[in-house]
Amino acid sequence: ERVYRVSASSVGHGTELYVLVFKDQSETRRIDRMRADFIANASHELRTPLASIAGFIETLRGPARNDPAAREQFLQIMQNQTSRMARLIDDLLSLSRLEMKAYLKPGARVDLRQTLESVIDSLAPLARDGGLVVERDFVEGALDVPGDRDELFQVFENLLENACKYGQSGGRVLVTVARSTAGPEPTVDVTIRDFGPGIAEEHIPRITERFYRVDVETSRAQKGTGLGLSIVKHILTRHHARISIRSEIGKGAAFTVHLPAN
Ligand code: ADP
Repeated sequence: ERVYRVSASSVGHGTELYVLVFKDQSETRRIDRMRADFIANASHELRTPLASIAGFIETLRGPARNDPAAREQFLQIMQNQTSRMARLIDDLLSLSRLEMKAYLKPGARVDLRQTLESVIDSLAPLARDGGLVVERDFVEGALDVPGDRDELFQVFENLLENACKYGQSGGRVLVTVARSTAGPEPTVDVTIRDFGPGIAEEHIPRITERFYRVDVETSRAQKGTGLGLSIVKHILTRHHARISIRSEIGKGAAFTVHLPAN
């Protein structure tokens, strides 16, 4: 359905000249609707832990007042819910900061080898706790691409974190870097592959949407917010980069970031 706004204004005094403006508003409407959906989703996501905290405050004031064991348990839940709200707010702020920043600083370059090594280092405790070994296979030579170091760090951190969280059962995660000339421009391709349960085909096109989760309970148990991959997508768009996702149920998932080499 197309929606047009028609406006007419008279020009000058006593003349017969009118200007008609036809403006296609369907795109504006779509964006407005997306924004409204986003606000509704974000509010719901924040309200859920808040409602739980409010409920436990009531219980602590009433029935659990003189039960130290229950009190301790409820305080722990409240603390977990507070952390969840904090993670959500951090992710929402990341998204909104990205939306406000217009362009990347021209001329800046990122050393991918060094960036990936520090991402792997920073997630070593998570990998270790999940019994995972992180393996690397980086192509030889300099691996620097145009971009923002902090933003690309965030991209790889999100992808590796997901591989460690959701692919835990696979025992290992593989990080590869290769050069490619398959597309119209040469790219440097970074793949983060896990050998966990994988993602069913019908979910793949949607998992980069805000708040989209294949299984809400697993995502929550893994301290997910449902915003990680939408932040990834946002940053990659700013870098004129692309992400491709391949997965087979039971065999794991592979996320490849194709970054322009020049
Ligand atoms: P979350 O905060 O829930 O992890 P993301 O945006 O990072 O949100 O990911 C969206 C969803 O995609 C996750 O909830 C999970 O269902 C699925 N997902 C992401 N990475 C993987 C993976 N490596 N293996 C299986 N499922 C994954």
